[in-house]
Amino acid sequence: MVTLVAITAPVDGVIVPLGEVPDPVFAEATLGDGVAIDPLGDTLCTPFDGEVVQCARSAHAVTIRHACGVELLVHLGLDTVHLEGAGIEMLVAVGQRVHEGEPLLRFEPDRLAREAMSLITPLIVVEPGGWRIDSRRGDRGERVRRGDTLLILEVAAQAATGPSRDTGPARERDVTLALESGLHARPAARLRAIAAEHAVELDVLAGERSADTRSLSSLMNLGLVNGDRVRLIARGENAEAALVAAGQLLESPEGGSHGGDVSRPLAQAGAGQWAGRVASPGLAVGPVVRYAPPLPEVPADGAGAAAETAALRDALAAVRVDLEDGMTRAERERHSSEAEILTAHLAWLDDPALAEAAERYIAAGRSAGQAWREALDDEAERLRATGNELLAGRVNDLRDLQRRVMACFGTPPVGPDIPEGAIVLADDLTPSQLIALAAARPAGLCLAAGGTTSHVAILARARNLPCLVALGPTLHEAAGEPVEAAILDAEHGLFEPRPSRERLTAVRERVEARRRRQESERETAHARAVTRDGRSIEVCANVAGAEEAELAAGEGADGIGLLRSEFLFLERDSAPDEEEQRREYQAALDALNGKPVIVRTLDIGADKQLPYLSLPAAPNPALGVRGIRLWRSQPELLDTQLRALVGVEPLDALRIMLPMVSDADEVRAVRRRLNELASELGLSATPSLGVMVEVPSAALCAASLAAEADFLSIGTNDLTQYTLAMDREDPDLAEQLDVLHPAVLRLIQATVKGAAGRCPVGVCGAAASDPLALTVLVALGIDELSVEPARVPAVKAALRELDAGALAEVLPDWLALDDGGAVRERLTAWLEARAAA
Ligand code: PEP
Ligand code: MG
Repeated sequence: MVTLVAITAPVDGVIVPLGEVPDPVFAEATLGDGVAIDPLGDTLCTPFDGEVVQCARSAHAVTIRHACGVELLVHLGLDTVHLEGAGIEMLVAVGQRVHEGEPLLRFEPDRLAREAMSLITPLIVVEPGGWRIDSRRGDRGERVRRGDTLLILEVAAQAATGPSRDTGPARERDVTLALESGLHARPAARLRAIAAEHAVELDVLAGERSADTRSLSSLMNLGLVNGDRVRLIARGENAEAALVAAGQLLESPEGGSHGGDVSRPLAQAGAGQWAGRVASPGLAVGPVVRYAPPLPEVPADGAGAAAETAALRDALAAVRVDLEDGMTRAERERHSSEAEILTAHLAWLDDPALAEAAERYIAAGRSAGQAWREALDDEAERLRATGNELLAGRVNDLRDLQRRVMACFGTPPVGPDIPEGAIVLADDLTPSQLIALAAARPAGLCLAAGGTTSHVAILARARNLPCLVALGPTLHEAAGEPVEAAILDAEHGLFEPRPSRERLTAVRERVEARRRRQESERETAHARAVTRDGRSIEVCANVAGAEEAELAAGEGADGIGLLRSEFLFLERDSAPDEEEQRREYQAALDALNGKPVIVRTLDIGADKQLPYLSLPAAPNPALGVRGIRLWRSQPELLDTQLRALVGVEPLDALRIMLPMVSDADEVRAVRRRLNELASELGLSATPSLGVMVEVPSAALCAASLAAEADFLSIGTNDLTQYTLAMDREDPDLAEQLDVLHPAVLRLIQATVKGAAGRCPVGVCGAAASDPLALTVLVALGIDELSVEPARVPAVKAALRELDAGALAEVLPDWLALDDGGAVRERLTAWLEARAAA
């Protein structure tokens, strides 16, 4: 039995996949799996209802326990433990009940950006087992808003209790902590890993308090600091070895972790190529332009300390007004990342150390402008010398401020003269230079320095501007001779300033084709999709609720092919009542303005539990009570949902769909109940009732299902899983779990044949969005495809290119092939040949 837990974004920000977090303890999932967010706000909020079970002494991390037992560590920034709480305010306490969206901690973004390694905030599920990620939102760089669902976890019931304890003889060892920052998340995770590697039970005893190393939150709650004495107690065959390893860990000063290992392998640069890090993905071709902004010219010598000091103070005040105006504008125009950066500049401006350093140069005879220049040069050098990538990245912000204040005393720098479509090469850019450059619409950016977490990177991503950073100091050589066009491949991290003519032509074609394709796909997204041979295919959208339905309508969806109603039932203490459900379904119908909306009844069961439904544990959950099988034990839940559904208007736009059907009798039972409820409510008609084909029996008995149902929709995700007997969540089987396997295709064919003439057949599994698979589906006779809202334009466009009849002619031979790989090969070759013809 499992519970579904939705983890929401604690702050507005940009998604960073855990594997890309520049700290191996997170990237390699030593602490656990999860996701990270690059915050664009100053408050981290609670990602789900629960109890605070740990607050870091240094206020940089909080652990929340969900009612089902799963614990989530919310870790503000990287290596923030060393700040000792400076710039962070903890707003909750251990033992406090918190609700989703409630503030957990507040922080000063500029200060942390200057003083910590990174603001990237990992959210980590810290239990080693008993849960798995059911769905994961978003790609790298996707902007999310606070409260958006980032992950959905399936949590097994035993996560709440944990396995039983070994009561065998114990070995002990006393150690004195030498960990510089005490027992925080990183060493706690290592301690847990040592216990697991040695298969022992390991407890840490500190005075009266003890913690089981399986629980990171209780370990961290011990609040152990450098110099504390603790007793390690291990049970199990390898207890002695585990004690030695744990002792070594706690007695060493955590060398090498400070500052983190931020380097990830670069792409292999071939001859004539530069390898860098992808700060903003994309592909660009264009002439190379070198950008090296000069500093404003200012007089070197001052006209007396008093006058120059007053002039400097006036200049700082004027720049402050400019920055504040800029912030107001950025906030009004909702450029939150820009506002955040200007806030950082204001913080530098307020730093008394910088003003004092400049005044010392004035006292030594410099002009105000020159004194400011030298003071900020020194600070930039100091930051660079730390060797910390994030701090070095902040040098840009400092340079920006240097330029702004110097401009008060000398000739302002000339604005960038960048031709549209150029690839701009620079040593580094300040954020305001990037904003000015981006306005000139370059094709991309190549920076010799910089980091992927810098403000420049964030701004480039927000502008969809391909950008490579850290290309190295030799980058200037790339701009040496005039070249026709260079290639910026910010997908593979390569810059090619002098590509061969053939290579250039090929990449240009790719870039142009991509641009044209997206443009025309969007232009025609609202029109019907008709294949070359005249088949009209409905392209609908899969959504989680009314909000996404609105998005789908905007993308040109012909309807909603699957509204997964279980999303309405998650993260709450009781099921939504009839009125709440009705409002949500009605809003989805309203968004589609008369186009059809298929609502799937609750697909929950033995392997996907809601906390308020107590169902018996199933030994084989995927084959247990799920989907339609649930109604036998929970008839009132079905009644409420059906009542809510028949309460919407217009009823003829609504279609109800039943999940996990394995025979016609199940459909007849729901039809009977639907008719009874409709007559109780005095309705003269009932909505269409459809069936999901997700198990082989449904596919093979499609004819009898089609006799009972008004439409069929193939759930290829589950149909593939059950046909191949491969768990769709098992990463080790992911490559073999192929919808193009001839066995799956034959079942799809059987479904279409069985339904022939009786009712239409759609596909709402992921195969409907897959550019290869969708062609086969249509060739097999599918009438409707339901895809992710954002894929609607591309899917419609792909259908318009397809000669489904011609593909149908060659398909029968492919259904006799050995495996999905063989089908894929034939299909790819066939599509390429047609495209070339
Ligand atoms: C499917 O199984 O293909 C389907 C669409 O349903 P779900 O992914 O929600 O199980
Ligand atoms: Mg399914």
